[in-house]
Amino acid sequence: MQFDAPLEKEFRLNELQKKAFKKLHIETVGDLLYHFPTRYGDTSEMRSIATLKKGDVAVLFGTISNLKTSKAYYKKIPMGEGKISDDTGSIKAIWFHQPYLAKMIAEGALVRAEGKVSERKGELYLSNPKIETVPKLPIAVGSSLFGKNDENHALYPIYPESRGVTSNWMYHAIQKIFKSGLLDTIPDEIPEPILKKYNLPKRKTALVWIHAPQNKNDGLAARKRFAFEEVFFIQLQKRQARLEYEKHKSFVIEPESGAVEKFVARFPFKPTVGQERAIQAIIADFKKDRPMSRLLEGDVGSGKTAVAATTVYATLTGKPKGQNFGHLQTAYMCPTEILAKQHFDSFITYFAHLGVQIGLITGSGCRKFPSKINPHDSTDISRTQLLKWVANGEIPILFGTHALIQKSVRFKHLAYVIIDEQHRFGVSQRKALAHTSALVPHFLSMTATPIPRTLALTIYGDLDLTVLSEMPAGRKPIKTEIVIPGKREEAYEKIRHELLAGRQAYVICPRIDEPDPSKEMALNVKSVKEEAKRLKKDVFPEYEIAILHSKMKPAEKDSVMEKFKDGRVHILVATSVVEVGVNVPNATVIVIEGAERFGLAQLHQLRGRVIRSNEQAYCFVFAETKTENTLKRLKALEHAKNGFELAEEDLKARGAGELYGRKQWGLSDMAMEALKNIKMVEAARTEATALIETDPNLSTYPLLAERLKKSENKIHFE
Ligand code: ADP
Ligand code: MG
Repeated sequence: MQFDAPLEKEFRLNELQKKAFKKLHIETVGDLLYHFPTRYGDTSEMRSIATLKKGDVAVLFGTISNLKTSKAYYKKIPMGEGKISDDTGSIKAIWFHQPYLAKMIAEGALVRAEGKVSERKGELYLSNPKIETVPKLPIAVGSSLFGKNDENHALYPIYPESRGVTSNWMYHAIQKIFKSGLLDTIPDEIPEPILKKYNLPKRKTALVWIHAPQNKNDGLAARKRFAFEEVFFIQLQKRQARLEYEKHKSFVIEPESGAVEKFVARFPFKPTVGQERAIQAIIADFKKDRPMSRLLEGDVGSGKTAVAATTVYATLTGKPKGQNFGHLQTAYMCPTEILAKQHFDSFITYFAHLGVQIGLITGSGCRKFPSKINPHDSTDISRTQLLKWVANGEIPILFGTHALIQKSVRFKHLAYVIIDEQHRFGVSQRKALAHTSALVPHFLSMTATPIPRTLALTIYGDLDLTVLSEMPAGRKPIKTEIVIPGKREEAYEKIRHELLAGRQAYVICPRIDEPDPSKEMALNVKSVKEEAKRLKKDVFPEYEIAILHSKMKPAEKDSVMEKFKDGRVHILVATSVVEVGVNVPNATVIVIEGAERFGLAQLHQLRGRVIRSNEQAYCFVFAETKTENTLKRLKALEHAKNGFELAEEDLKARGAGELYGRKQWGLSDMAMEALKNIKMVEAARTEATALIETDPNLSTYPLLAERLKKSENKIHFE
């Protein structure tokens, strides 16, 4: 068997399986080996069916049969049932409200079931058991078939499944790969000294340990190795890209002394310490002839635009080489047209007194400031005209969307590139922008998405990091209250008080419709539609209530938003994806239902909707649970200073897998898990940096070089 061989070549796959593997991104034998178990089952917890008593919470292993769906004897609720048998007896399993569970398992499958033993009319049954298929039954004839253990104690892997491929199938396939001897032929790409230094197992050992651990520690050591491996490779790639970028020369920008201070003094506010530090860091980078690669991270409202404007101003004071007229140019790229226009307008207010020209290019048209007719305003111009003035250097500041990186857009002296909301842009787009000129521009990317430091170091491994950690002085923090069940009425009275004062409120629910029964935990989660009805009927009958969610038609959404904006609707019940850009200053109250299901950073972003005015804003966080840990986690919202602090809390309390928007980072579960461990991430970064610095092309590590080339096509950051 070959590591790189297509899976189809080694295993007979039916169409459903082929589809499933495609979905799981598994193409080769090697990919399957790198499809790691999410966890391990432990057979030592097992009970024999004959020993079960009413009230036990038990784990059984057995064969399942007699699967069917029916209606319960009372109340006629739909249910699924089956019979689980082992060597000692059998017991019925019943899933109330979840008949589909009975359809998801194959008749005769070997299963592990965990649930409470209940009794009805003298007959014992397992009520709502968690069920999963297992590769083998632990006791067939009194001995364990997993591992070599005597005490019938063994771990078995549980893999992420997809329709058509069970965990069981993967277990057997991986066993087959092991038996083929393939593991003896695959080399380890990580240099041995690094493995030794961090006490990490070799690749071959780690593969065995992760799929078939003899004990928990082996499994953990293997995970550690693969987590390190992934972060290490990402870091290598990033460092290499960075070094590549830094090979180019860039514009040396030396602002005239005192000029920047004068520009800052015009702001109607005093910059925060963070803003000043960021400005200084960027200007220090400008003075070098190597291009800057920097990320500016700061909560919404932390004042990133002022930093951008000041540093753009600094570039204006530098002169193009060998030329005593004109300006160095800046390209400012935004993810949407609305944002591009918004920034274009705010830069006009910052730069109008200087008499510089500013351009805007988007898919739907171009504008320029100032207009010939009205020097205080901007005007529509043709694309051709705009591009001409950008190409000859007459327009030094150009705003735009993706339209900015088209080939037809040529600059004369592009010295500085700013990208707002970096994560929306891929590395390739960044490169496209950077290489429109012989000298490469300094590069600043800005983001408001609060992510923990380890994640930032990983996905932005090629960038230097500057964080704006404080908000401008004088902002009234939102009063946030965690409301436990039973305190609902009191909270509603406070909300009524605000509504009476003429304010409006958002109510955020986790779902649009009634719960989807395939989600085990979904049973008591509020839905937009039901909650709106309930609020109207039982809580706020005197107010206008409307709903907003992603399944509505655009025209319907617009009409609801209009009514909310002009105050005809007082309470807007919506899902968490309330359109970005929703800006209703009079809405000063936000209620978040089912808050325990959201990450803290996400809750923080949600409540950010109601700091749009000088009025005191309120956030009521309804939790359906009284669990101490959950409440403690949510409490962090009451005193946290910023989104980053909360992102770190999230990471600690819930794990990286739960991080807001995790998919967009393009990292595997393994890498996300690694992010919990700052020491490991830093170690991977240190080693990668050292390696690339001494051997940029990795010529002494051909295996590593090859692996990097391969994974380049696999890691996507969009
Ligand atoms: P973001 O970081 O979300 O891009 P902005 O740059 O849009 O934030 O700033 C949000 C608002 O705060 C703007 O109206 C801006 O003028 C104002 N602002 C920025 N810095 C300060 C400051 N240091 N003190 C007071 N207000 C500030
Ligand atoms: Mg901004």
